[in-house]
Amino acid sequence: MKVRAQIAMVLNLDKCIGCHTCSVTCKNVWTSRPGVEYAWFNNVETKPGIGYPKEWENQDKWNGGWVRRNDGSIVPKQGGKWSLLMKIFSNPNLPQIDDYYEPFTYDYDHLQSAPEAKAPPTARPRSLITGQRMEKIEWGPNWEEILGGEFSKRSKDANLASFEQVQKDMVGQFENTFMMYLPRLCEHCLNPACVASCPSGSIYKREDDGIVLIDQDKCRGWRMCVSGCPYKKIYYNWQTGKAEKCIFCYPRIEAGQPTVCSETCVGRIRYLGVVLYDADRIAEAASVANDKDLYQAQLDIFLNPHDPRVIEQARKDGIPESWLEGAKNSPVYKMAIDWKVALPLHPEYRTLPMVWYVPPLSPITSAANAGHIGVNGELPDIAQMRIPLQYLANLLTAGDTQPVARALERMLAMRAFQRGKHVDQVQNLAVLE
Ligand code: SF4
Ligand code: SF4
Repeated sequence: MKVRAQIAMVLNLDKCIGCHTCSVTCKNVWTSRPGVEYAWFNNVETKPGIGYPKEWENQDKWNGGWVRRNDGSIVPKQGGKWSLLMKIFSNPNLPQIDDYYEPFTYDYDHLQSAPEAKAPPTARPRSLITGQRMEKIEWGPNWEEILGGEFSKRSKDANLASFEQVQKDMVGQFENTFMMYLPRLCEHCLNPACVASCPSGSIYKREDDGIVLIDQDKCRGWRMCVSGCPYKKIYYNWQTGKAEKCIFCYPRIEAGQPTVCSETCVGRIRYLGVVLYDADRIAEAASVANDKDLYQAQLDIFLNPHDPRVIEQARKDGIPESWLEGAKNSPVYKMAIDWKVALPLHPEYRTLPMVWYVPPLSPITSAANAGHIGVNGELPDIAQMRIPLQYLANLLTAGDTQPVARALERMLAMRAFQRGKHVDQVQNLAVLE
């Protein structure tokens, strides 16, 4: 056993209101610079939607993540020094600017400088790349916010719908729609495909806290990491010619402060915490045969910080006392590992992601109220759920509905318990005791 510590995050999707404050504050701090105008280290997607960049979940298109070979070993789908020779002149799996969006501002000067007219002047969009006025904005992150109807209906069983289909299905049919918000950032994976796909060896995972960083001096701008990351969370800075990514606000973490996105989150949905894991078992966990077993395999490599043997080994492996204390009180350990109400995003990419999600409960409240979902061990009635259980399972557990159903039921039970404490604004002493 080799004990390592990781700073990780849990996001409670039940509480995300899609306000994008996290994205804006992150951008203001880290990417409000020339070269990364289009980049959002943190973005909030409206699901089901094609996301940002477009169709990032379609690994048949981008070839990100790891692939398991017949002999049981795993290799990055692309990248590394061997495939570099083949792709050195063109990386076919690289998203283009249109896959992100053309960054724009508004022509605010026009509000002041327009000649007198009957109608008030408007601030038209202006491209941040060409400086030219844009007739219309073709696409942007969160475009699906305004889409609904048939698109959502057809997406119930699928994880993905093509962009063209989204465009076609813009006519709303609200009885069939569902939506949820999915804030996304670099997963600071335990088995990062970006590290494996970098031919320059410039990407590394810090030993002490697991944060994944890019050494800007070593980066040669091959961009294999951009395609290799299945979450598409590495961005190419066109001005410096280097790759950049979320740094988990490490200067703030080192100073004992939360990440900017966590501190400014309006819904208070983000929890930061330390988890301990067995680094000797990463390869074993990432290469299990069945995609649906990846969630459990990842759970199995986490270590119990309350186990004296784990603590003894952790001390031998040089984990500081303050981190061990942090692991014992970690909300991430509680929600992801102990209570199992938080789940990983797309574990089938085999990178062992470290940003986990509590699935959204709100949309099934009406079904619960109608008696279709129990809090006493019955599984939710899939047909009654506004967000189909299978859709959530495709996002969070490689299609296995059981862990998602369990997480939702625990959340429902906790909600019922908390509400039971108060009856008509009066504390229910029987429950409180
Ligand atoms: Fe690397 Fe982050 Fe992508 Fe994981 S999510 S592969 S750590 S860039
Ligand atoms: Fe969701 Fe919080 Fe971001 Fe608002 S700030 S979009 S509530 S994660």
